[in-house]
Amino acid sequence: MNKEIIRELFNNINIWKKNGQRALHKPLLLLWALGRLSQGNDERFTFQEVKDPLTEMLIEYSPPRKSYHPEQPFWRLQNDALFKIEGKEKIRVGKNGNVLVSDLKKVNPLAGFKQKIVKVLCADPKLIYDLVKQILERHFQPTQYQDVLSAVGFDFQHVFSEVKRKRDSRFRQNVMDAYGWACCVCGLKIQVGKSIIGNEAAHIKWHNHGGPDIVKNGIVLCPTHHKMFDFGIFTMDKDRRILVSGKAHGDGAFQKLILNLHGKEINKPVFKKDIPDKDFIYWHQEQVFRSPAREM
Ligand SMILES: [Zn+2]
Repeated sequence: MNKEIIRELFNNINIWKKNGQRALHKPLLLLWALGRLSQGNDERFTFQEVKDPLTEMLIEYSPPRKSYHPEQPFWRLQNDALFKIEGKEKIRVGKNGNVLVSDLKKVNPLAGFKQKIVKVLCADPKLIYDLVKQILERHFQPTQYQDVLSAVGFDFQHVFSEVKRKRDSRFRQNVMDAYGWACCVCGLKIQVGKSIIGNEAAHIKWHNHGGPDIVKNGIVLCPTHHKMFDFGIFTMDKDRRILVSGKAHGDGAFQKLILNLHGKEINKPVFKKDIPDKDFIYWHQEQVFRSPAREM
């Protein structure tokens, strides 16, 4: 097995994806397993070992759900030719392909990357970093990379030591121009000489989930509000009023930076044609925001 085949296998992982919904089960399990491997641990792990860390990450990074199912990626990754599960004979699977959790808990089988994949990965740490980057770029926003990496035991500096920058800078320029370069939440705009410092053009519907690089899918945010937006701490309603998550809490600065703005409309772009599109806002509400919103 060579590097290219391994890259392909990771790339072709079958992820249930419909209407831009975010499904993070397999990506998070792969990151966790790669993190474990890169720390020199045995490549095999039991369901009991991965159950809690994976559930915690699903709660933290997935859109809110009624329940979380770490058993599904644990079981289903064997269909993607990357994983094997040892001693699975007594584990029952339902008609829908869902594994019986009680059986998994009872038998507690060992799972992990296949031996021939482990051999290549262990000989090539850079390949592990490349795979990690590939997963991050497909499923997360750059504002989240550092947090996700530290949750699975990677050092951001190591993974991104030679990062190349950056897709469509025209998107950035157009969005910045549309909003006069000021954060549309707090109005911050810091100018030094002729340069505006720090503000960023944020995608409302993420680019890696089919969000286009157009101004109606962008807003200008300062780094703090950008991070909050990508982590679902706040979203907007259809009239572009800020909705703060009922799940987020903080001290006086949190109150000042976001909570006091709950219900306030974001600053409008200069031209009406650039106002954020409702469909993109709706995607953010459904797939990123940590609902429910606080009371008005
Ligand atoms: Zn701001």
